[in-house]
Amino acid sequence: MPSPRDDCIFCGIVRDGSYVHEANGFVAIDDINPRAPVHVLVLPERHVDSFREIGRFDANETKRMLEFVAETAQKVGLTDYRVLVNVGPGGGQTVFHLHWHILGGGDSRDDVPAAVAGAEAEA
Ligand code: 5GP
Ligand code: ZN
Repeated sequence: MPSPRDDCIFCGIVRDGSYVHEANGFVAIDDINPRAPVHVLVLPERHVDSFREIGRFDANETKRMLEFVAETAQKVGLTDYRVLVNVGPGGGQTVFHLHWHILGGGDSRDDVPAAVAGAEAEA
């Protein structure tokens, strides 16, 4: 089992939180500050800082992670949705444990990328 980071909020959620879906080393949680009618985050249980380090997952894990994203969307009742990864502070990343946003339940066709960027930008 990989070591959780004590200072990482998502490692804490992996350890103690409640999930909307869980399988094969991945968990899905509701975003605390939803920016769509359905806004779920998918994260690997093991700590990886960001999408930049995607190479730290082997081919099998990467496939499972993507399948888990699709399964999670289905599980929360979405057929049409957007999948988004913010990478680095300049890309809107605010929590430095890799996660995939699943946003749906509305019509995203007119959204611009900034509309799904970090909550801080809207505050
Ligand atoms: P990022 O900006 O890094 O791409 O996304 C981080 C996301 O995590 C944000 O959408 C934010 O609302 C969410 N978030 C931050 N802290 C918590 C938390 O303690 N619990 C949950 N469920 N979501 C969180
Ligand atoms: Zn972490």
